Amino acid sequence: MTVFTALIAGTLGLIVGSFLNVVVHRLEHGGSILWDRSKCPFCTHQLAWTDLIPVISFFMLRGRCRYCSSPISLQYPLVEGAMALLAVLVAFHVELVSTLSFGAIGSFLLLFSLSAVFLAILAYDLRHFIIPDVLLVAGGILVVIFLALKAFLGGGISPIFSSLLAGLGASAFFWGIWRVSHGRWMGFGDVKLALLLGLLLGFPLIVVSLFLSFFSGAVVGLSLIALKKKSLASEVPFAPFLISSALVSLFWGELLLDWYLALLLI
Ligand SMILES: [Zn+2]
Repeated sequence: MTVFTALIAGTLGLIVGSFLNVVVHRLEHGGSILWDRSKCPFCTHQLAWTDLIPVISFFMLRGRCRYCSSPISLQYPLVEGAMALLAVLVAFHVELVSTLSFGAIGSFLLLFSLSAVFLAILAYDLRHFIIPDVLLVAGGILVVIFLALKAFLGGGISPIFSSLLAGLGASAFFWGIWRVSHGRWMGFGDVKLALLLGLLLGFPLIVVSLFLSFFSGAVVGLSLIALKKKSLASEVPFAPFLISSALVSLFWGELLLDWYLALLLI
């Protein structure tokens, strides 16, 4: 992959990341996602284009509104930066450039959009401890297109079967946890999200992904308790762990699995 493609993918990621921040904000506060001009949430001053350059504006303004000096949430540059990184990773993953074909561009756009939806879910769940259904539906549509293309482009029906099994298995597992804990350990949004992730990853990557999510969730949860930022009873959103683990598994799952199996065989 050339530096040029990485730059284009990264820039696209920055722009879409900036749009995702608007989506997350307006899903909560209302307003049209496309047509409303951006305003400072504190002083409601309309923002100029120079206030809206992804990542750069945040640092130029030193994290404060130009008009009222209220602090700007770190979510803005973080989501923009994360989306840029994801865009580059997806471009790598679909081997864009080495094969600049319609197929590669299509796969890129599909996985890029899916990553964007997942990042919006992650950011929203971190802020509000809930996953909006509209984001799950958007993700669901993209996953179905992804599976249809996979079957159409030569995979046949067997990967679809594996995906269905992985999706149903993962969501049944989370449904069990949700039922047993009466929604205290997992929200119902996590049950629906697990279905999407299983469908996307299939077997055995969904297993790698779930293992990583519980492992990272436990490490972060225990660290927060040790730092006295959270108590054992406090709510920690799980979707961020599910999503970051699923993305890691999507990009490096096969590698992790090979490494783990080699470890077992020694
Ligand atoms: Zn302001």
